[in-house]
Amino acid sequence: MSDILLQVKGLRKAFKTGAGTLTAVDGADLTIRKGETLALAGESGCGKSTLGRMIANLTPPDEGSVTLQGTELVGLSRRALRPWRPRIQMIFQDPFSSLNPRATVARILEEPLIVHRRGNAAERRLEVARMMERVGLRPEAATRYPHEFSGGQRQRIGIARALMLRPELVICDEPVSALDVSVRAQILNLLGDLQQEMGLSYLFISHDLSVVQHLADRVAVMYLGKIVELGGRDSFWSEPAHPYTHALMSARPLPGTGQRLRDKQILEGEMPSPIGPRQGCDFRARCRHAFGPCAAITPELRRAAAGHEAACHLVPG
Ligand code: SF4
Repeated sequence: MSDILLQVKGLRKAFKTGAGTLTAVDGADLTIRKGETLALAGESGCGKSTLGRMIANLTPPDEGSVTLQGTELVGLSRRALRPWRPRIQMIFQDPFSSLNPRATVARILEEPLIVHRRGNAAERRLEVARMMERVGLRPEAATRYPHEFSGGQRQRIGIARALMLRPELVICDEPVSALDVSVRAQILNLLGDLQQEMGLSYLFISHDLSVVQHLADRVAVMYLGKIVELGGRDSFWSEPAHPYTHALMSARPLPGTGQRLRDKQILEGEMPSPIGPRQGCDFRARCRHAFGPCAAITPELRRAAAGHEAACHLVPG
C-alpha cells in the first residue's frame, strides 16, 4: 500500500481585485507521506496560507486536484465531502482570534464532535478532558473562557480543537509566530510529541526557516504563488539550490547562537506584484545571479539532487 497520504497537483487560485486578477497560487504540486512533516516556507503574501486553505477545503481552488489516500476531494458536494472533512484539520496562527471568546473551552472542544455526531454527551465530556490533558492543560480549566488563558495556552486549545476528530493530516499555519519566543519551543515540542503519539502528518507553514529546521522531513519553498524549491532534509539544508532559498537561509539565525550566517545575502526589495500576467523568473529583480534567459523563460522545477528540485536556470537538471 502506498505511503502517500496527500497528493496535490496543479492547484491554482486567483482573486479578482480592483487592480486586476491576483494569482495567489499558480499551479502547485506536492505530496505528503503518512507520518511526515512537510514544511511550506516563504515570505508573507507568497500564497502559502491560500494553498493550505485549499488543501483543508476551506477555500475552493480554480483548478487542480487534491487527493487524500487516492480519493479526489476537489469538486465533491458538501455532502460527499462530509466524511473526509475530519481527516484534514487546521491550526491557525492567531490563537487570540481563532477561538470563540464567548464559548468555554469545553464548548470549543466539544463542538467538532457535535457537528460530526461523535459520541453522547458523557463520552464527549470524557474526550474533551482526555484531549486537554494530552495538550498539557488541566481538564478542570474546561469551564473557563479563552481570555483567561495565556497565548501559549490558547494555542494548546487551538491544537486540541484540531485534534478532537482524530485527523490524519494537520495543516499548521504559522502556529508559533504570534507567540512569545519563550513559549515557541514548548508548542513545537508539543506538536512533535503529538505527531509521534497520534501518527499525524503535518503541512507546517512558516515564513521563518529557523522554525521548521528541526521538525521538517522535507521543505517546499514558495515564491509568488509557485513552489520554487522542494527537497528532503539530507540535501535541502546543506545544498540549497535556488538563490531565493539561499537568501532566506542567510536571514535565519544559526542554531543555538542567535547569530546570522556570515556570508549573509541580503534579500533586497519586495516581491513583485502578483497582479496581472508575468513572464520569466519571478525572482529575477531580487536575484544577484540573474542572467540572459531569466527575463524571458519561466524556469520549471528540475532535479538538483535525489528527491530535491529547484526552479532556476542555474540548476543543470
Ligand atoms: Fe535567479 Fe535566474 Fe535562477 Fe531566477 S532563474 S533564481 S533570476 S538565476
